[in-house]
Amino acid sequence: MSATRIDWHARAAAANFDGRAVIDGARREAVVGETYAKTSPIDGRTLGPVARGREADIDAAVKSARSAFADGRWCGKPPAARKKILQRFADRILAAKEELALLETLDMGKPIQFSLSVDVPSTASAIAWYAEAIDKVYDQIAPTPASSLALITREPMGVIGVIVPWNYPMIMAAWKLGPALASGNSVVLKPSEKSPCTALRLAELALEAGLPPGVFNVVPGYGHEAGEALALHMDVDAIGFTGSTRVGRRMLEYAGRSNLKRVYNELGGKSAFVVFEDFADLERAAKTAAGSLFFNQGESCNAPSRVLVHESIAERFVEIVAAETPSYQPADPLAAATTMGALVDEGQLRSVMGYIEAGAREGARTVTGGRRARAESGGYYVEPTIFDFVANGMTLAREEIFGPVMSVIRFKTEAEAIALANASSYGLQASVWSDNINRAHRVARALRAGTVHVNQYDEDDITVPFGGYKQSGNGRDKSLHALDKYTELKTTWLRIDAA
Ligand code: NAD
Repeated sequence: MSATRIDWHARAAAANFDGRAVIDGARREAVVGETYAKTSPIDGRTLGPVARGREADIDAAVKSARSAFADGRWCGKPPAARKKILQRFADRILAAKEELALLETLDMGKPIQFSLSVDVPSTASAIAWYAEAIDKVYDQIAPTPASSLALITREPMGVIGVIVPWNYPMIMAAWKLGPALASGNSVVLKPSEKSPCTALRLAELALEAGLPPGVFNVVPGYGHEAGEALALHMDVDAIGFTGSTRVGRRMLEYAGRSNLKRVYNELGGKSAFVVFEDFADLERAAKTAAGSLFFNQGESCNAPSRVLVHESIAERFVEIVAAETPSYQPADPLAAATTMGALVDEGQLRSVMGYIEAGAREGARTVTGGRRARAESGGYYVEPTIFDFVANGMTLAREEIFGPVMSVIRFKTEAEAIALANASSYGLQASVWSDNINRAHRVARALRAGTVHVNQYDEDDITVPFGGYKQSGNGRDKSLHALDKYTELKTTWLRIDAA
């Protein structure tokens, strides 16, 4: 039976959160004993102290991960054995669904219904998918002359540093933990300082499932302290980073300044949603744009924040999206029916409000929204906001807002739509809406983005790669392609003497 709203509030009041790091299979205070206070963006309540990890903590976690790798307690297990343990890990995540969902909602503000229906199941399925895959992945033998045999094998890299953001804390971690752990690596995870709660529980659940101590460590802390120490560490072989383009740039610098570790960046986006006049079901297109943008309070890397609409249908399109906004009014994230929760913190609220002010100042027309909501709750909520007559050069259209703000940009021709869609430093996702199959293919090919949707937006699955062109990053999360990020390719030549 699903819990009622009262249940969630009662559970939240009774929730216990342990903010200590998980290093070498045990809970640990930060070496210097410092903590920071974690508060909830839903109403400002205190969740508890969190260990403020710094260089010494990262070093302890990397040492633990390295010795786990060196003695083969994990990478030395046959793939089928790693699979069983990771499957148990996925099962534990599902068994702890309500606890994890509550922590995620309290930590970063998303509605409880989505923590339950999206975040926890997607996290478990990402781990389970790589568990299932890993004893079905074969290596290769090269087509060499008969006098020799050349084996091309994948080997785990060693110690992987994982640094993730706060918008989907568990899912972003799982997209990296799945392929990294299944391949036999050890991991040190640095969650966002804004959302450390679930990562720390995941590490405990992994231990309960039988993952050997030291294989998966979690060190909470700030980016410029724990994050920087991890990315600069000389004994980390690769960094799997998801976050902003600004910090992704630093990841490349850290690698250059240290041991040239591999850096895989999954960064920001400013995805274009292109609607042509020949697409008959305008209502579906508009409702999809609203649903995809306002989901997760607009705090999604792939949010379709630039909506390009042919001028002949723009008026009607804007009417439909505006009529959708009452369904996305911010409300109590612990109430079962809430569809829009709180932004992650006061800084994010200020940033989003700053973009809204810039939109009005630069001449875009506010269709609806634009104000802070629910201030009396002590949390950080913003109304779903729509701007029309946005020009692609305006701040609204150039920068990632990461909030519930839609920009509608009008175009006249197909060529103009493609040029506008591609005129962005980002290239994470895009979509094209057209009933003309030739146009749909033509435009999909022309769009410079890692994922292009045709006549839909939110289809997603662990089986397909996820990542961006241009300054949206490199490498790909998800699918078998992600295994390439956490494995080295080795060629072994064997001589075969003639009889
Ligand atoms: P952020 O870049 O500020 O922080 C991400 C992580 O990096 C956090 O753990 C943070 O503590 C750490 N960090 C910050 N400064 C650091 C430093 N100097 N050295 C080392 N680590 C540092 O991003 P955010 O605000 O947490 O998340 C939002 C961003 O993430 C958006 O740009 C969004 O588009 C992006 N994102 C991308 C994807 C994707 O798959 N492409 C998915 C989700 C989010």
